[in-house]
Amino acid sequence: MTANPTEASVRAEVRAWIEANWNPDLPLIEWRNRLVESGWGVPGWPKAWHGRDLPAALEAVVAEEMRRAGALSVARTGVRNLAAATLLAHASDVLKQKFLRRILTGEDNWCQLFSEPGSGSDLAGALTRAELTDGRWVFNGQKVWTTSAHHADWGLLLARTDFNVAKHQGLSYFILDMRQPGVEVRPLRQMNGHASFNQVFFTDAEAPAEHLVGELGEGWAVATTTLMHERRGADGMGAWGRASDREGRIYDEERAENATVMEPYKWYPQRAGRVDLVLERAKATGAIADPAVRQEIAKLLTLSKTAEWTARRARAAQAQGRPPGPEGSLGKLVASHVARAAAHVHTMITGADAMLTGEDSPMDGVIAEILVSVPAASIAGGTDEIQRNIISERVLRMPKEPRNDDDRPFRDVPKNVSG
Ligand SMILES: Cc1cc2nc3c(=O)[nH]c(=O)nc-3n(C[C@H](O)[C@H](O)[C@H](O)COP(=O)(O)OP(=O)(O)OC[C@H]3O[C@@H](n4cnc5c(N)ncnc54)[C@H](O)[C@@H]3O)c2cc1C
Repeated sequence: MTANPTEASVRAEVRAWIEANWNPDLPLIEWRNRLVESGWGVPGWPKAWHGRDLPAALEAVVAEEMRRAGALSVARTGVRNLAAATLLAHASDVLKQKFLRRILTGEDNWCQLFSEPGSGSDLAGALTRAELTDGRWVFNGQKVWTTSAHHADWGLLLARTDFNVAKHQGLSYFILDMRQPGVEVRPLRQMNGHASFNQVFFTDAEAPAEHLVGELGEGWAVATTTLMHERRGADGMGAWGRASDREGRIYDEERAENATVMEPYKWYPQRAGRVDLVLERAKATGAIADPAVRQEIAKLLTLSKTAEWTARRARAAQAQGRPPGPEGSLGKLVASHVARAAAHVHTMITGADAMLTGEDSPMDGVIAEILVSVPAASIAGGTDEIQRNIISERVLRMPKEPRNDDDRPFRDVPKNVSG
């Protein structure tokens, strides 16, 4: 590669590489391995770890050339993106060596083992224990709300390694093999009929000593990296449904992968409120003629547009290499307002029929699914109230809310559940 890559040099180089290597008859994993080896799969990543150290603007040039050629990218959906961002920032070289390539090729699926029955918003109150016994970590406890645990190979696990220090200091972060006898995954059924998350129980589940991510007792800082990326949408859920409709072996394999990995997320567009359907539905039903409906539609579209601009600001900041900022919390909060406003407008447009499901219901049940999926937007990845706390305390520098978890040892802090 040229010493100081420019748009023209990168475009020429990646184009030549694609011409020499892209072949839709290859098996998907073989193609992705080639891509990872070349550094063109994640050109913004460090050279030492499958990338080319390119700035975001030049990454976009690479993506454009890949799209132009119809070439498939590295695997980008689900919790694997959060795993990659967290490992790049905090993991030892041993862990990066073991996991990063397989994240990019899509050979492994991941889940995020953070929330527990007594610690969701109060995530640092986690009670799952990790003890080092005979050179291996042994885990006991329970997680809940774990999306995709039922088909995950690996979990990002936040667990308590010390009950005798302050709450945030006694946590550590691990990579856990989900396919072992000590891990039991029990699916939960949601009110929208899907079963995308699970309870996960650990009974003497194990991990090798080197599966600690970051330093012992620094799990909170590592988890914060994961959450920052999640809140600014790095989990790639937007990629749902974007598998190519082209014919050929590699596209078939990508569609099969998408169907499995994205299955837990197939209601996520409805969870966001389906603003895209509002105008079309208002016109089709004639509700567009009602001035009260038009007013609510205008409010919704204005809010949605400002949310989009906030997200763009966040992306621009990221492209300039600035650390994740308040836009993540602002964007997440406004997204849940948009979702609720959209559900309200859909109800105005459709009336009581919005509650119907089944084949002859409005849009084959999609409208009903919106109504029962939207509540998730204000809970997942941190509730609205928690986002407001973050914005008021960290962005607006307002006084902190009263806490009962000062510097005393965690074992003496009142808990949400007994443990
Ligand atoms: C679709 C979906 C997918 C999810 N996937 C995962 C996953 O893969 N992995 C994972 O670990 N978790 C996952 N979660 C869990 C999610 O992170 C938690 O549900 C969330 O953090 C809230 O925690 P909780 O449910 O325990 O609610 P609680 O913390 O019990 O909150 C209950 C209510 O109290 C309010 N509240 C709590 N504390 C405060 C406070 N200090 N100030 C003001 N109000 C407060 C909350 O806002 C909320 O309204 C998922 C959740 C959803 C909805």
